[in-house]
Amino acid sequence: MPTTRATRNAKATAPSAATATTQPTPPAQRQPESQEEQRARMAEITDALRQQYPDAHCSLEFETPLQLLVATILAAQCTDERVNMVTKTLFKKYPTAADYANADPSELEADIKQIVFYRNKAKNIRAMATILVSRYNGEVPRTLAEVAALPGAARKTANVVLGNAYGIIEGMAVDTHVGRLARRMGFTISEDSVVIEQQLTQLVPKEMWVLFSHLLIYHGRAVCQSRKPLCDQCVLAAKCPKVI
Ligand code: SF4
Repeated sequence: MPTTRATRNAKATAPSAATATTQPTPPAQRQPESQEEQRARMAEITDALRQQYPDAHCSLEFETPLQLLVATILAAQCTDERVNMVTKTLFKKYPTAADYANADPSELEADIKQIVFYRNKAKNIRAMATILVSRYNGEVPRTLAEVAALPGAARKTANVVLGNAYGIIEGMAVDTHVGRLARRMGFTISEDSVVIEQQLTQLVPKEMWVLFSHLLIYHGRAVCQSRKPLCDQCVLAAKCPKVI
């Protein structure tokens, strides 16, 4: 059968299956979702990410809660790779909270000099360790409020430490990757990490909060990158409105 102008035009203008699932959806065309629909979509996204990143875990290397607390303080605005490089020797030199508390300020600064904002972070680590020694017998406390109140720590740090070092789940760690992906996937419009955490924890089962944060971080590094999301290669393309 000859190809008519109409069929030629239809072929020329019809989007391919890949294009149809990878184009951003203008906000005005997005259908509002109920919380149940959001939960169902979130469950599909979580399943797909678990298959994609079966070994997702905390990228900071640590063996004790104190090590993870120090590493998380160092990791603010710094890559985990760089932090791991520095903590390899740092943890051997300062095995206890008392070692940090009693450290010579300029020596500790020199020990973490490769880390961005090292002066301020060294000051915070010494102040944090002094509190651990004086109030908590040198141990990292086990509640979100107590960890979040330590110098250099905040809610995200507390969620990372409690969830990964103690297996205590009080909240979800929302970093820059988690926030960006949650917005792009249409689960929030907020830029405020506390608001985003509150919204995501309504949609993800509590036992998944720690893993979910790792999954989004892995996906944010590998595919849904800040500058250029690779939607054409994304396993979530059909489930994501791509609010970019
Ligand atoms: S998760 Fe990111 S990379 Fe994947 S489709 Fe959505 S916006 Fe694109």
